[in-house]
Amino acid sequence: MSGTITKVSGPLVVATGLADANVSDVVRVGSQRLIGEILQMKGDSASIQVYEETSGLGPGAAVETTGTPLSVELGPGLLTNIYDGIQRPLTEIRDATGDTIARGVEVPSLNRKKIWEFTAAVKAGDVVKSGDVLGTVQETAAILHKIMVPVGVSGVVQSISGGKYTVDETVAVVKDDKGNEHQVTMMQRWPVRVARPYKHKYMPSRPMNSGQRVIDTLFPIAKGGTAAVPGPFGSGKTVVQHQLAKWSDVDIVVYIGCGERGNEMTDVLMEFPELKDPRSGESLMQRTVLIANTSDMPVAAREASIYTGITIAEYFRDMGYDVAVLADSTSRWAEALREMSGRLEEMPGEEGYPAYLASRLAQYYERAGVVECLGTDSRQGSITAIGAVSPPGGDTSEPVSQSTMRIVKVFWGLDSSLAYARHFPAINWLTSYSLYVDTLKDWYDSQFPGFMALRDKAMAILQEEESLNEIVKLVGRDSLSAADQMTLETAKMLREDFLQQNAFMDEDAYSSYDKQFRLLGLILRYDELCREAMNKGAGLDGLFAIPARERIGRAKMILPGKYESEYAEIEEQMQQQIRKLTAGGEDQ
Ligand code: ADP
Repeated sequence: MSGTITKVSGPLVVATGLADANVSDVVRVGSQRLIGEILQMKGDSASIQVYEETSGLGPGAAVETTGTPLSVELGPGLLTNIYDGIQRPLTEIRDATGDTIARGVEVPSLNRKKIWEFTAAVKAGDVVKSGDVLGTVQETAAILHKIMVPVGVSGVVQSISGGKYTVDETVAVVKDDKGNEHQVTMMQRWPVRVARPYKHKYMPSRPMNSGQRVIDTLFPIAKGGTAAVPGPFGSGKTVVQHQLAKWSDVDIVVYIGCGERGNEMTDVLMEFPELKDPRSGESLMQRTVLIANTSDMPVAAREASIYTGITIAEYFRDMGYDVAVLADSTSRWAEALREMSGRLEEMPGEEGYPAYLASRLAQYYERAGVVECLGTDSRQGSITAIGAVSPPGGDTSEPVSQSTMRIVKVFWGLDSSLAYARHFPAINWLTSYSLYVDTLKDWYDSQFPGFMALRDKAMAILQEEESLNEIVKLVGRDSLSAADQMTLETAKMLREDFLQQNAFMDEDAYSSYDKQFRLLGLILRYDELCREAMNKGAGLDGLFAIPARERIGRAKMILPGKYESEYAEIEEQMQQQIRKLTAGGEDQ
């Protein structure tokens, strides 16, 4: 069916004569067949969000509906790919049309020519239902792609055979109980604004190991959890996201770049493929899908990108994988929403954002979680959603930050003053929080008994430091009691010797839970021994100057396989040196 444009306002096009079209349908606009999506229908008039530059388009031009909602293609070939917000493969488009994306270009999201080796997992005669794994494809060295029975299909396998196929060739035929035969290919389509189904959603109960001490120890995130990282410019947001992408113990990473300032996305496009997966030594792209809105794409495409990203993440989750979705930044996404809402002349809410900002954000984060996937084998998969927020001027009282904070369970507050003081990662331990601490306690207690108690103690010391600093500002450090001075000293060690972690030094970039636990234990053991010694009359200056203290400062750099024995040795040394001070004290 086709309609006629009556109005063009930036990315918004209004067209009439589309009585049978539906909200969310994809349309092709004008002679260049630009891609658009229907946002609103009033009678036969549709308001359309166009994902490409609309200049040159005017009233009278034709609009053609496709009758299908905005969807993504899911199948082998997703990994290592770089897509734009509506899943157009950027590299292939560049090869086809040059550096700037020509308007209306039609390149399929999944390569139709590439041949994949399909290994069947079921045989003719088997009864299968939605989500069952029909077979597998080794998509990259890192990831085995599971070809699942599409949602809505079940029945008896009529035929299936392993071999070499392209994504649109039939690999299996499934006959349902009404006698209909379904030709199953390795590719499925799914509408991006609809969450993919699962059997059951669980409360997250395991942590996602990030290898970053401030995260894993102080503000852990659960696998299947949600987190926000607000980051003013230069606060180390990109480095944090790269670290998470590299080190998190997830199978797949979906990185959604919603276009920051102009060339920033180009940085990501250049940098990400360079990142190495530290576990395999291969390119991180082997288990990554990158979604990028380059600066030559209109803002409307940003709006679609987070749905495209989360749908791809759900597809891998459905295979039983743990997936992390990193969205950078949801503020830019919200701005796109605001711009469209303005053009639709909707009633503006706070700061011009539409009133449904909070519910849209919630709909996105709700798609995270640990689930039991469809299919008979009861496999589990998870999506952990981490969204960067870039509040203007770093002021988190604005609507996007506020709405996000009401939804997500973890907040890693990057702080420009910490970054300025070169304390990295610049996650502020006073403003950050994790609501998973209680849920994950059982896991920590069973795996690392005593870790949580140390964590609580460290948090208490860091908080106390803050209030002591107020006093120091007024009356000076010397007026503090010896116990309080000890607190300040331990807090300093916690900050410098534990929380600070250099992403660019191989020795320090990643810490296992065990290393974090022992290192924290070492610092707090020093605190404990010093306090005992103080009670026996030892002086602070002597305690602060023991040689073992300096070794603690370098302890985070000790490599796996060595730190276990060295930490024990440092502790031993520390005890002796402190004992000597008290013995000396008692002698006098
Ligand atoms: P943003 O993306 O917030 O603008 P970046 O992530 O690019 O900031 O970080 C800015 C700079 O801060 C980096 O170039 C790097 O020098 C430093 N930095 C950030 N995080 C770390 C870290 N964990 N370890 C060492 N240096 C860091």
